[in-house]
Amino acid sequence: MLLVQKYGGTSVGSLERIRAVARRVSEAARSGAKVAVVVSAMSGETDRLLRLAMEISERPDEREMDLLLSSGERVSAALTALALRQMGVTARSFTGRQCGIITDGAHTRARIETISAGRLMRALDRGEVAVIAGFQGISSSGDGDVTTLGRGGSDLTAVALAAALKADLCEIYTDVEGVYTADPGIVPEARKLDRISYEEMLELASLGAKVLQTRSVEFAKKYGVPLVVRSSFNDMPGTYITKEDEEMEKVLVSGVTCDKNQSKLTLLGAPDKPGIASRLFSEIAGAGLVVDMIVQNISADGKSADISFTVPRTDSRRAVEITGRLARDLGARGVDVKEEISKVSIVGVGMRTHSGVASKMFDALASHNINILMISTSEIKVSCVIDSKYAELAVRVLHEAFGLEKAA
Ligand code: ADP
Ligand code: ASP
Ligand code: MG
Repeated sequence: MLLVQKYGGTSVGSLERIRAVARRVSEAARSGAKVAVVVSAMSGETDRLLRLAMEISERPDEREMDLLLSSGERVSAALTALALRQMGVTARSFTGRQCGIITDGAHTRARIETISAGRLMRALDRGEVAVIAGFQGISSSGDGDVTTLGRGGSDLTAVALAAALKADLCEIYTDVEGVYTADPGIVPEARKLDRISYEEMLELASLGAKVLQTRSVEFAKKYGVPLVVRSSFNDMPGTYITKEDEEMEKVLVSGVTCDKNQSKLTLLGAPDKPGIASRLFSEIAGAGLVVDMIVQNISADGKSADISFTVPRTDSRRAVEITGRLARDLGARGVDVKEEISKVSIVGVGMRTHSGVASKMFDALASHNINILMISTSEIKVSCVIDSKYAELAVRVLHEAFGLEKAA
């Protein structure tokens, strides 16, 4: 039995919590399993390091940021290995480089290219517990600089190592008992799911449910990594993320989520002729920005168009620069940006085979006077952009409208 266990920030948030993690790991090791443990930085540490850098420089160099941010996970890895050794378990800590995680050179959001897990495997074969600093690797190009895998990236470290080591199970230990029908911090009535499909989990994660990092779910789906999300505070069974089956299709909506980190931009009064959207979005994509929703409206006289789209809030300044430049080139009226927006979404594989889900969502929002600014749909989700001040209300309203609360 080979297990990868990942412990998030709250789970290693203090020495007491680190000792509790070490106890859980030692139980698994003593039961005969080979255990690779991936740890996050202690809770709040990554944000603290980010703030320090921002105090020195408004736009800190990304290579330096990666070295800085990767240190948080190293501290937790060394402390966890020490706690295990104190309990008589032979444990050894590893950085991203030491466990062979090679990435591209995109600092602060690097993608894993390969993993050479030989050294890790040998440690596990010797009966050692391997404790790995999550969230980091080294770049394949140039000098092998330290890279990080994007916020929440320790989840990806765990899933990718589970795939490379052909683990029997990847356990993500966190501060909630699993994946819920909505963030339990927003909806106290949210229900823990026993199982959810990779597809639904991928939508929920990318639409704002931070319980798993989006890329880690993509990776798990691609390589079929058996994944469970559990609490590090108790022994409840958690939520299994699995392939879709017929039972799952009977459920119309599995979850509701919201993303408050988006901005909406509008290119106003652009000439209505071929090639405008193509130019706008190729320039935005060329700058490495990811666009989500797009809506175009043609004026009543058919002469000009307004094109609205959303980007992650952190990219909105760059997007405004690019769109502004294009507006001047085209003689368009200008650019409007709205930062106080949120995207609320409902997700469920059952939507494929049922109609009327979207209209039920719009009805529920309308009955609480929540205005919809943009809409997008896919086979298994419906998303609406709304004013940020209604984000939590909207999640609660939709959770109730689709009857997702705990069974009485
Ligand atoms: P960790 O530090 O362990 O990686 P995170 O803070 O990244 O933990 O993720 C866990 C948090 O995700 C929970 O505390 C919860 O508030 C939030 N969350 C958002 N949506 C959901 C959901 N649908 N189910 C469970 N938790 C969710
Ligand atoms: N410490 C990193 C973060 O806060 C990575 C992680 O916790 O998964 O984003
Ligand atoms: Mg996380």
